[in-house]
Amino acid sequence: PYVVELRDVTKLYNGHVQALRGVDLTVGHGELVAIVGPSGSGKSTLLHMIGTLDRPTTGVVRIAGRDVAELSDRELSALRARHLGFVFQQFHLSPGVTALDNVADGLLYTGVALRSRRERAAAALERVGLGHRLGHRPNQLSGGEQQRVAVARAVAGDPPLLLADEPTGNLDSAAGTEVLRVLRDLHAAGTTIAVITHDAEIAEWCPRQVRVRDGQIIADRGDGREPPAE
Ligand code: ADP
Ligand code: ADP
Repeated sequence: PYVVELRDVTKLYNGHVQALRGVDLTVGHGELVAIVGPSGSGKSTLLHMIGTLDRPTTGVVRIAGRDVAELSDRELSALRARHLGFVFQQFHLSPGVTALDNVADGLLYTGVALRSRRERAAAALERVGLGHRLGHRPNQLSGGEQQRVAVARAVAGDPPLLLADEPTGNLDSAAGTEVLRVLRDLHAAGTTIAVITHDAEIAEWCPRQVRVRDGQIIADRGDGREPPAE
């Protein structure tokens, strides 16, 4: 199955605000996709659909082959924990806790013992180039490093899809580049990634770009896979 499959998805807020209108989107394993568009175009709503944080008004959303309409809220939480990693503009790290434990705590849902959670957390921090910062607390890290901790937390459980919402929005350009480089390394190692951004430069930097406007996909281009293979 596709990692992400949206068929004719519509989202209405308050019965009349049409945030998404007839969106079809598939993302295959190993893709790095930018979802780009101006403010108010529907990117966050699309993220909420892909992230199963909200349900569509009409249409079908399948994540890793599971139709979200057929899952209870509890089953959806389980699907999110196992299949999706989230990175947001704000880093959402726990301030009093080391980088290692911020990442290890993200694995609580796995039910494995603290020691193995910490081993996996250390490996994830290595992957984002922070193997030398395991014992640092967020306030001892630069913004770029904090966001890389957040990325490590998101990928520590090896989710089939990493969702990043304006991941460089709170960073200066050097730190932003640092984070983008990490995403590109993860992509090169096989992680499927969707990046939501209003920044054309970040979008350019992704092999596939999906352009959203007024709740519709107005362009989908990149890497010879456009439109994505059915
Ligand atoms: P973007 O992320 O591209 O800025 P959004 O998905 O947040 O776009 O918004 C798309 C449209 O839906 C906008 O018109 C916005 O005002 C509206 N919208 C978003 N969330 C809500 C909500 N919870 N209630 C009502 N309208 C909303
Ligand atoms: P940004 O500032 O990048 O837009 P936010 O932190 O405001 O990101 O989060 C975007 C949306 O995702 C919000 O509606 C928020 O409630 C939801 N959200 C934030 N963190 C999580 C999380 N860890 N798991 C599930 N949903 C989240």
